Amino acid sequence: MKPTVLLYQSLPEALYKKLSSFADIKQFDTLSLDSNDFCSALANASGLLGAGGNIDKNFIDHAPHLKAVSTVSVGYDNVDVNALTKRNIKLMHTPTVLTDTVADTMMALVLAVSRRIPELADNIKQGLWVKGITPDWYGTDVHHKTMGILGMGRIGKALAQRAYFGFNMNILYHSRTEYTDVNDRFDAKYCDLDMLLQQSDFVCITLPLTPETHHLISKNQFSMMKPDAYLINAGRGAVVDEKALINALEQKDIAGAGLDVFETEPLSPSSPLLSMKNVVAVPHIGSATKETRYAMAECAVDNLIAALSDNVKENCVNF
Ligand code: NAP
Repeated sequence: MKPTVLLYQSLPEALYKKLSSFADIKQFDTLSLDSNDFCSALANASGLLGAGGNIDKNFIDHAPHLKAVSTVSVGYDNVDVNALTKRNIKLMHTPTVLTDTVADTMMALVLAVSRRIPELADNIKQGLWVKGITPDWYGTDVHHKTMGILGMGRIGKALAQRAYFGFNMNILYHSRTEYTDVNDRFDAKYCDLDMLLQQSDFVCITLPLTPETHHLISKNQFSMMKPDAYLINAGRGAVVDEKALINALEQKDIAGAGLDVFETEPLSPSSPLLSMKNVVAVPHIGSATKETRYAMAECAVDNLIAALSDNVKENCVNF
């Protein structure tokens, strides 16, 4: 008998077919314990596949037959991993396939905010380009500046590669571990957080959200940054204390921010961040290309099939 899989995001047709040849699929738009249909599907499900949602102990208690959760993401801060592990439920994720795309997004944010691309492109559209540009439209150079990378994991390394080889940038980094291959390859310097904040022109966050990283960047940390430095965040929104960020931008403690992630998503249209010219905000598009989203979905389907077949070789978070 086929296992039952609860799917809570759409899949490309070929991947849906692949999964349905292995499992009976019950599809929903979101995870909602308020719906009786959803709860009865969850009560029978062996597998769960989708992205986001709050997969906490209460949710897992509604799934007595669950054997594997396959998230279409590398981050899993929305999942109570301990609760899954206690129940022997595997958590599968999709690292690697999205690394380069997220690093590209971060480099795009670096360039967009420092060279003021969205703001100046908007000026043309508004008919404000009526003569030669004046210094108040000048941006700030990226090449040969110092990039401080917070979190030297897969994405941090891919970002360092772009910044060092593409833009001749100096690389500082902070993570729990010092990596001699990173030091050698990018002529990078491992340092503590304070030094990274004090010396970087671009502070780039590629950290996961954990109890240790929650609000790691707050008022004190902004006060250590250079007034002409930029904050780039594509890790998780809550690594940064957003109120402190807004305050730092208003007080001109820092020059600007490039943000892919926010404490609450979707970001409220009334957020002060959206009325600041020196903020480039994008709607969590780090991995959002056609190619990479397909690769992530494919990886998640393969992960779930492997986990439900007791044939896991990679991409398992907790076993
Ligand atoms: P990864 O390879 O696991 O790298 C995470 C890095 O963070 C590691 O270098 C790790 O240090 C460091 N780190 C973790 N906790 C730390 C702490 N308390 N203090 C200092 N450093 C710490 O993960 P990845 O694939 O690069 O992804 C990183 C994160 O990016 C994900 O967890 C996710 O939240 C986010 N992300 C966002 C998007 C997007 O669309 N914006 C897409 C993908 C991922 P060690 O090296 O010492 O272990």
